[in-house]
Amino acid sequence: AIARYTAANPLSLAQHRAAAQVLPGGNTRSVLFSAPFPITLTHAQGCRVTSLDGRSYVDFLGEYTAGLYGHSNPVLRQAIVQALEGGWVMGGHIRAEQELASLICERFTSIELVRFANSGTEANLYAISAAKAISGKPEVVVFEGGYHGGVFTFAAGAPGPLTAPFDFVRAPYNDCEGTRALLDKRADTIGTIVVEPMQGSGGCIAADRAFLQMLREWATAHGALLIFDEVMTSRLAPGGLQQVHGIEPDLTTLGKYIGGGFSFGAFGGRAELMRRFDPTQPGAFGHAGTFNNNVFTMAAGAAGLREVYTTSVVGPFNARGDALRERLNAIAAEARFPMQFLGLGSMMNVHMHRGPVRNVRDLAQSIQALRELFYFHMLERGVWLARRGMINLSLPLGEPEFEELEAAVASFVSHANALA
Ligand code: PMP
Repeated sequence: AIARYTAANPLSLAQHRAAAQVLPGGNTRSVLFSAPFPITLTHAQGCRVTSLDGRSYVDFLGEYTAGLYGHSNPVLRQAIVQALEGGWVMGGHIRAEQELASLICERFTSIELVRFANSGTEANLYAISAAKAISGKPEVVVFEGGYHGGVFTFAAGAPGPLTAPFDFVRAPYNDCEGTRALLDKRADTIGTIVVEPMQGSGGCIAADRAFLQMLREWATAHGALLIFDEVMTSRLAPGGLQQVHGIEPDLTTLGKYIGGGFSFGAFGGRAELMRRFDPTQPGAFGHAGTFNNNVFTMAAGAAGLREVYTTSVVGPFNARGDALRERLNAIAAEARFPMQFLGLGSMMNVHMHRGPVRNVRDLAQSIQALRELFYFHMLERGVWLARRGMINLSLPLGEPEFEELEAAVASFVSHANALA
């Protein structure tokens, strides 16, 4: 498969070699690295992306959830062009920042006040810093397999030498007893709990409602702040997964598609907490950032929520994802193949593993080599997805593309069964 891949993508290989002269490993975004070399893209339209080697792929990656609108959505395009014509580095407030903030506060009931940043990483950096300062307690609980940004990555063996300057304590995801024991033991020092209501990078592993409820109750009882990282999951319901579960965190972090496809992050929550950032308050928390209100993000983000991903679109869009996931799982079940598509709504991840998955520990026995083969097989069949097997729907994808994906998955299964 690798030999065919190399032969099919000579221009991407040459591009990678040139990039490696000036970027470490030819890379400026770890998640996109893919040995032996990644494919370089040149353009995108609707639900398709085109590579430097001239191949067209159906985009089932959806830029790790940030690409929800697909490529060149006309409404967003018009908002961007209008912003472009008005100038884009003004150094003052613009009206679109209030518009986007209003749309977010309307949708997420736990967010009364919100502030913007340039990435989900930054949003978490500010939210965790604020929670630490407000709670007055140094330790921050995160979960195994969790991901909150490049310096906030908690997959086994993955963190690397770079870590943000926080006192992190890692707890087992979706394990009420194990987590509660850890929380109780360190109740005096734990001031912040950060959790993804469904782990995205971790493999689309959804938290049980009871687990999130336990965290909510523990935080309230012990003077700790609960942060939901909904950078990815905010797309799953108009008010995010917190709305589905009926559980309100103290602070929420957002990012990805809400910036309309531009660099974006946001953090918000109860007015009483977020007011600490109000510059008229004595001792206000600082939060500057040259591009926090950048013109394109604000304009595209507001247009997207107001006119495209409206609250009435959210439900049916995610229901299509649920139906697709069932169809894909049926292919595996019929062939008795050790593969499953985990996730919720428009987000899913393939795992080469049979039984139930409640946290990353359950995936220890999954077959990594098969997932690698899956990735290269999908590329060969013209399906663009994350190397780790993540698939995220975007609005322009429809039944013809779903059928293409199904056919590609079915052909992978018969191919792999023949190998075994
Ligand atoms: N939190 C979660 C849950 C994420 O999935 C990501 C990005 N994949 C981030 C935070 C970081 O966002 P960004 O890449 O914009 O810094």
